[in-house]
Amino acid sequence: MRIIDVHAHYEPRMLEAGALLEKLNARAVSRVVLIPSMSEPILESPANLLRVARALARRTWTRPLVEAIHRSTLTPEGNVRISGKTIAIDARPDNAGVAALCAQHPDRVLGWIFLNPRQNPRVLDELEQWRSSPGMIGLKLHPHWHDYRTELLTPLLRRAEELRLPVLIHLGFGARGDYRAICEAFPKLKLVAAHAGFPFFDDLWRAGKDLPNLLVDLSSPYLDEALARDVVRVMGPERCLFGTDAPYGFHEADGSYDYGEILGWVSRLPISESKREQVLFGNAEELLKLQ
Ligand SMILES: [Zn+2]
Repeated sequence: MRIIDVHAHYEPRMLEAGALLEKLNARAVSRVVLIPSMSEPILESPANLLRVARALARRTWTRPLVEAIHRSTLTPEGNVRISGKTIAIDARPDNAGVAALCAQHPDRVLGWIFLNPRQNPRVLDELEQWRSSPGMIGLKLHPHWHDYRTELLTPLLRRAEELRLPVLIHLGFGARGDYRAICEAFPKLKLVAAHAGFPFFDDLWRAGKDLPNLLVDLSSPYLDEALARDVVRVMGPERCLFGTDAPYGFHEADGSYDYGEILGWVSRLPISESKREQVLFGNAEELLKLQ
């Protein structure tokens, strides 16, 4: 059992720690890298909207439509409206809960330090506070929902590169997701674009040829199985990491998180078993220095 889920959230209101560990055990997932929750629980993912967004985002000329839809979901207070409900966004996600779980389950749980430079003038101090906490292995950034331009990240990314901490980023549109500028300015930094590089998808995969420090995860219903197959084919399995976005997205008949969905996609990828192992754990072990 060596599978590593590099992208899941600690949201005990939807999946408390014991139940999460049971889910991992049932699917032979050895480790999970948790992100602090950044919002009120999101109980239903808007599957139809995501399907349309996925198709439109894959083409450069229709992507602005997806951006317009996204901007229409943001409220002036910095919250988001999904399926007619307003979901409160945390400007300062709570890293303490994830750090405590890492300490309790050092062999199973690792954590991403979630930082927001737009609403925290002492964000570099917050990085220093958590980086020596056992199991906190890198930074999570969300310019898409925290709604900032990625140039705001420069001091944080410089420090992450110095510390050799990987960065998981949910890119926003345009200047809120300038992955090329980041990868070129910080060539030693490992940048993992969440959700197969949403919202840039194919453009980001092709750009990856010139950006050797750019990786992607395969998490969430921002993707579907066909898109996962495409990103692995274009970027190569050595640049793709298994992740789920648990507990959001895919659910079993009883409403609990379905840990098998994305594992199923990976199990059916038309690649060799050794490449599949790279996606499931080899790339993550290297990125997180677990070997
Ligand atoms: Zn996520």
